[in-house]
Formats: sequence, structure tokens, C-alpha cells
Amino acid sequence: MITPDPNRYDGRMPYRRCGNSGLKLPAISLGFWHNFGDVDDLDESRRIMHRAFDLGITHFDFANNYGPPPGSAERNCGQILKKDFHAHRDELIISSKAGYLMWDGPYGEWGSRKNLLSSLDQSLARLQLDYVDIFYSHRPDPDTPLEETMGALATAVQQGKTLYVGISNYPAAMAAEAIDILASLGVRCLIHQPRYNIFDRWIEDGLTDVLIEKGVGCIPFSPLAQGLLTGRYLEGIPTDSRAAKDHGFLQQEAVTQKIKAVKKLDEIARHRGQSLAHMALAWILRHPAVTSALIGASSVAQLEENVRCLDCLDFTGDELKAIDAAAAILS
Ligand code: NDP
Repeated sequence: MITPDPNRYDGRMPYRRCGNSGLKLPAISLGFWHNFGDVDDLDESRRIMHRAFDLGITHFDFANNYGPPPGSAERNCGQILKKDFHAHRDELIISSKAGYLMWDGPYGEWGSRKNLLSSLDQSLARLQLDYVDIFYSHRPDPDTPLEETMGALATAVQQGKTLYVGISNYPAAMAAEAIDILASLGVRCLIHQPRYNIFDRWIEDGLTDVLIEKGVGCIPFSPLAQGLLTGRYLEGIPTDSRAAKDHGFLQQEAVTQKIKAVKKLDEIARHRGQSLAHMALAWILRHPAVTSALIGASSVAQLEENVRCLDCLDFTGDELKAIDAAAAILS
């Protein structure tokens, strides 16, 4: 059992309403894609979870396949949740997802009712929870009728295995349709989880309009472009960084391609009196569609640094233009 900081809700972490729903999420949420698997230092993983909670981060985001190996992030953190956070379950919003490859055979991925509902049961067992707060369809499935995938999400709510549902990586038109199907089944689509950062702005091309119009929240993942939009790679590729690790999803070529832009963005951040990580997160949070920025952290120090972005969230028009120009620089 933990003894959390009694001042964790003192106002330093803002809680923002998720679309038109009744649920508020912290401006910064913590993701468990990397850093919590069997390959990681679980003592540090546990310290990150404790510190996050003390900092007012009430939302932890999982998926069935996070690790590596797949499933290990939920399993490792399930033990920590049970041991340390049991008394605080009602203060936490815990999410999981299904859709990417998880087990052998025709039902281990994508968007069938069979995959989603079986995967949710597996996630609940690994997390040692009776329910999650948000369950997502992790990616659109071109071969399964959208009615079936959304129907499975609605069933998960009716079964009491999730309180809310969301969609992830759905393009604008498909998201609009999915939100409407869920509404016709009497279930609100709470949230969309897309990739969004200074380098990857696809959601501005239609999706954010759909989410605002339909009152659905938005929680962008990889807001730091997996660490590129921090000081991590300014002097090369450190051996303990995501880009250097075999199981890391950040390609070294992406670092090489973007490093000139990163250096220019770092200059702009310094002029604002903040770090590049702070500026990248503030930039996400400036968008009216965005509820929360979903970060990753491989250490307590990174987590603490990232939360300090909340000290300076405003941008001038000139700063935004300079960021646009810097982001377009090719190395
Ligand atoms: P970020 O863009 O925040 O990248 C996090 C990584 O950047 C850290 O693990 C660390 O990497 C580095 N980093 C973070 N803060 C700092 C700092 N202050 N200084 C230096 N380096 C820093 O997010 P992620 O790509 O990790 O994604 C966040 C979450 O989004 C995931 O955990 C997951 O929950 C979700 N997600 C969802 C997806 C989906 O399809 N729905 C897909 C991908 C992610 P390092 O190891 O180098 O220290």
C-alpha cells in the first residue's frame, strides 16, 4: 500500500473535461507502451507509477500487447496496482485496448467481436481488475463491419467490464461513423486516441473537427514523438534511449532525418524559457480538441520534467509560426 502525497489534488495538475462527457482527465496522462515490460527495470517502473499518482496523474493507459513480451506491461503493473494502489482504485482511470496482434490464430487481432471481448477478459485477468475505465478498439479493421466492432464495445459496457469506450487510430470519416453507431446503441464514444505531435499533424485534417462537433475527447499519443521532441537526441543517440534499443519503436533514421528540425525547435523553446519537452507538450495541450497529452517516461526524472510543461502553456502567433517552419526543416 502506498501513502500518497496528500497535496496531489492541490490544483497543480489541471483536470480537463473529456469531450461533452462527465469524466475529467489529467492534462498529462501516463502510457505503458514502453518501460513496464519484462525487459525493463521494474523497480523504476513502480517508482514512476507512484510518482505519477503523487503528481496528480490519475490516468494510466495500457493495451493488451504492451511489453515486451506482449501482455507483460499489464501483468507487471497489475501486481503493482493490486499491491500498492488497491485502496485508490476509485481515484484511477485505467484503460486498455484490443486490435493489434496478441495471440495465434484468426481471432488474436483486429476488430471482431470475438477478438475484442476475449482480449478484454485477458486484460482484466492480467491487470487483476474487475473492470477497466476505458476500453478501446485499438485500430480500425477494414474487414470487419464497423457495427460488429462497435457492438462489441457496447457489450463490454453492458457487461460492466468497462465504464467507457474509445477508438484509436480511426481516420475522420470512420471515427464519425463509429461514434454514431455507438450512440445508436446507447453508448457514448468517450474518446479518440490518435498520434499527434509537432511532426505529425494528420488529425488536424478533419478528425479534430469531427471530435469537437460530436463532443468526443482526444488523447494524443507520442506527443514527444517517442522522445525526439526532448533534449534526448541533441548530442547523438544515447545507449539507453528508445532509438538505441532493439525493442524500441523509434527508428535511428527518424532521429537522423529530424535532428536539424529538433535543434531549431529546441532554440525556440529556450527563447520561451522552457525545455523542448515542455514546449512540445504545451503545443499539444493548446489545441481545443485535446483533453490530455499521453506521455511515456523511462524514469521518474523524465516524468517530473514533463509535468513542469504546465507552467507555461500559452503561445504567441509568432511562436506558432516559428514552430511550423522549424518542423518542416529536413536534415
Ligand atoms: P512520448 O512521445 O511521450 O515518448 C516517450 C519517450 O520519450 C520516453 O519513454 C522516453 O524514452 C522519452 N522521454 C520522455 N520524456 C522525456 C524527457 N523529459 N527527456 C528526455 N526523454 C524523454 O510517448 P510514447 O511514444 O511513449 O507514447 C505514450 C503512450 O501513448 C504509450 O505509452 C501508450 O500508452 C500510448 N500509445 C498508443 C498508441 C496507439 O496506437 N493507440 C501507439 C503508441 C503509444 P527513452 O526510453 O529514450 O528514455
